[in-house]
Amino acid sequence: MSRYVGPNCRYCRREGAKLFLKGERCNLEKCSFERRSYAPGQHGQGLRRKQSDYSVQLRAKQKLSRLYGVREGQFRGYYKESTRVPGVSGENLLRLLESRLDNVIYRLGFAPSRKAARQLVRHNHILVNGRRVNIPSCLTRVGDAISVAESSRQMESIHESLRRSRDTVPWLSVDKVNLQGSVVEVPSREDIPTIAEEQLVIEFYSRV
Ligand code: SF4
Repeated sequence: MSRYVGPNCRYCRREGAKLFLKGERCNLEKCSFERRSYAPGQHGQGLRRKQSDYSVQLRAKQKLSRLYGVREGQFRGYYKESTRVPGVSGENLLRLLESRLDNVIYRLGFAPSRKAARQLVRHNHILVNGRRVNIPSCLTRVGDAISVAESSRQMESIHESLRRSRDTVPWLSVDKVNLQGSVVEVPSREDIPTIAEEQLVIEFYSRV
């Protein structure tokens, strides 16, 4: 399967919002979206036509999948799971995305972006309940303890990220000194700080 290796900032400009894909750079003046907030490409600054419902739903879907760094096949799988379980499908979808291990590492502050968090997991720096897990899409559950492996505790990038990180989300607890955290509850929609129109994503998949 092909993997996008182009500039991440293009995604932000395309979706018309900051997706915070590059860690600290996203908070600086260097942010491409701050300097050029129009869509990329030759016609990026052209007149915007009225968008169809389909196009609005597609953009909502693309924005969410790019924000969490999830490719189409896996994203569609999350949609199916979110409609299968009880509750509001859009919120279920967000909960699934939030419970991914790479996202939890990012939310705990161990990495400045989800992409960097994915790399930490892939390179065997992370333990879940004391066991090494190197699958970024692994779904965490309430009660799971997430920590940095003993051999990786000196990594400056992790300490730097923790120094810069703000408070974590209420459904996670973090111990910055011992480089560990845990999932304390299932997040409610209000506790997920993602700006997304998740219901449009559900509508997008419902029609195709
Ligand atoms: Fe998006 Fe970050 Fe690039 Fe800004 S610096 S355009 S927020 S990825």
